[in-house]
Amino acid sequence: MNESHDVLVVGAGFAGAVCAERLANAGRRVLVIDRRPHIAGNAYDHLDDHGVLVHRYGPHIFHTNGKRIFEYLSRFTDWRFYEHRVRAVVSGQLYPMPINRTTINRLYGLDLDEAGVAAYLETVRVPRSPLSTSEDVVLNSVGSDLCEKFFRGYTRKQWGLDLSQLSAGVAARIPTRTNDDDRYFSDTFQFMPAAGYTALFQRMLGHPNIEIRLGIDFADIRTTLLRTHTVYTGPIDAYFGYCFGRLPYRSLRFEHLHESASDRVQEVGTINYPNDHAWTRITEFKHLTGQQCAGTSLVREYAQDEGEPYYPVPRPANEAQFKRYQALANAEPGVTFVGRLAQYRYYNMDQVVGAALKAAALLTGEPADE
Ligand code: FAD
Ligand code: UDP
Repeated sequence: MNESHDVLVVGAGFAGAVCAERLANAGRRVLVIDRRPHIAGNAYDHLDDHGVLVHRYGPHIFHTNGKRIFEYLSRFTDWRFYEHRVRAVVSGQLYPMPINRTTINRLYGLDLDEAGVAAYLETVRVPRSPLSTSEDVVLNSVGSDLCEKFFRGYTRKQWGLDLSQLSAGVAARIPTRTNDDDRYFSDTFQFMPAAGYTALFQRMLGHPNIEIRLGIDFADIRTTLLRTHTVYTGPIDAYFGYCFGRLPYRSLRFEHLHESASDRVQEVGTINYPNDHAWTRITEFKHLTGQQCAGTSLVREYAQDEGEPYYPVPRPANEAQFKRYQALANAEPGVTFVGRLAQYRYYNMDQVVGAALKAAALLTGEPADE
């Protein structure tokens, strides 16, 4: 870093880019580094070899109830309306996921109305209190059979753990519906960046006060660079040299596929495979992006322990280990820790943007107008 930078931002994903933009806007000279050869972090998208816009690190669908967050991002992109839909394969048949009226009627050969579905769920649910684990959450809302068919196998593949070993918040991401709503999310704002995420990041990081250097690992420059402040968005355990042991992060392997003979092969954006195959889900990007072109590209996700850290693993023991790192972070002068990896939070993109806006407001002295 040369003398003309005030702040070093480690990581060019949502957490780093929002902080960089806000600080640059407030007159700071910012250097953003990332160890990857591109900006946009896990939201990175690009044209594949067939000219199809794909998400390198798995499907990213933007959704939020935060008007302020949506308005902030709207400075850097136009939007395409998109409501994500998911089907789950159970015994060779496709069912709406989250579980809704159609799922229950089709699965059990019933013809229930909304009140009937609510009454049915009341008879099969296994009341649990308190709702401490993800197993509690699922059994409490839909009972054993639906749990086994839709949740236990998927969760085992995704996390390498049983539902009972994960905090309640993991399964609580998925609602249960008694109506026919088959959208994956019910947020007020559901849109995709019209020209893609990387284009959004290019505009966000295009401020003249921001310099970007890619392919640089913080570990290689941390002791040599002069700076007054650091915004760190990488894994918190790595920052502190794993002094309290490695925090578990779940990784993924992505298998990108292309079908040149078809325009689209799936009826919806994502198909989940709770019980069959080694992958958890397959996503077809053209549903998400609306791109019109010949051929179609898809990605299969396989979860694994080794590799890039993608998911913090929400369970009490990990939270306790994180708290020890957080205490060090709170006492670390001149460093802001923000983002999914640094805060060890199972954050969606909008939550990371919200956390970064808050963190940046503390640094610039502006009010965090929520
Ligand atoms: P990241 O995007 O991970 O960025 C951190 C950056 O820091 C990375 O680019 C990394 O290379 C860099 N870095 C780390 N350590 C160093 C170092 N030592 N030196 C230099 N650089 C470093 N959210 C949604 O809202 N909707 C979705 O549909 C959705 N789908 C997802 C699907 C998958 C498969 C995954 C994994 C996540 C998904 N998310 C989704 C979550 C979303 O990816 C995150 O909330 C968001 O991208 C996190 O932003 P971040 O800046 O905190 O982290
Ligand atoms: N889940 C499941 N079956 C599904 C979809 C989700 O059991 O068909 C559980 C699983 O534990 C998963 C969690 O719900 O990890 C959250 O799902 P989500 O789709 O939000 O995961 P993400 O998109 O973050 O990978």
